[in-house]
Amino acid sequence: MTERMKNALADLKARQERGEYTLCPRCGKNTMRPDLYTNALSRSADIMVCGMCGLDEAKLAFMRAPMSLYQWAALQSEKAEGDFRNFTGQETWCVLKDQYKAKMFNLYRQYLGGENPEEIRFLAFESIPGLTQIWTEPYQMKFRCRDGSLIVRFKELSGGWEMEADLVDGK
Ligand SMILES: [Zn+2]
Repeated sequence: MTERMKNALADLKARQERGEYTLCPRCGKNTMRPDLYTNALSRSADIMVCGMCGLDEAKLAFMRAPMSLYQWAALQSEKAEGDFRNFTGQETWCVLKDQYKAKMFNLYRQYLGGENPEEIRFLAFESIPGLTQIWTEPYQMKFRCRDGSLIVRFKELSGGWEMEADLVDGK
């Protein structure tokens, strides 16, 4: 579990205890009983989840296939504002290079450093607008634009890394 996730869970737990967060943090539904401690203590984190999720966790634990915390409803990223649907691929590429290059490289460095791919996905969607998909095998990002989809990749050069982009699915 990452620091960011630990903090998010601690915050949710405090809000649960104050009665401010009443949805189930795992499934996101209005399925929590009003008396917090009659719900189920999660097996994945120190926080209460609804009875259905408690049963589901028990079942998945038995199958040795627990659900990742990255799939919890309350832990989804808030997508960065904005997109490139009114931009051509060329314009999108210019904006990305001008304004988001440092962020994109930073994420790529974390990926090379062995950061959990699910954490990279979370941070990418939260910090880079218009991102429609990110893959880590191999590492590439996809942005929908007016005339197709822009695929951004990273390549190693002597002395560092460079980004390159291809416009695909163009009409
Ligand atoms: Zn639930």
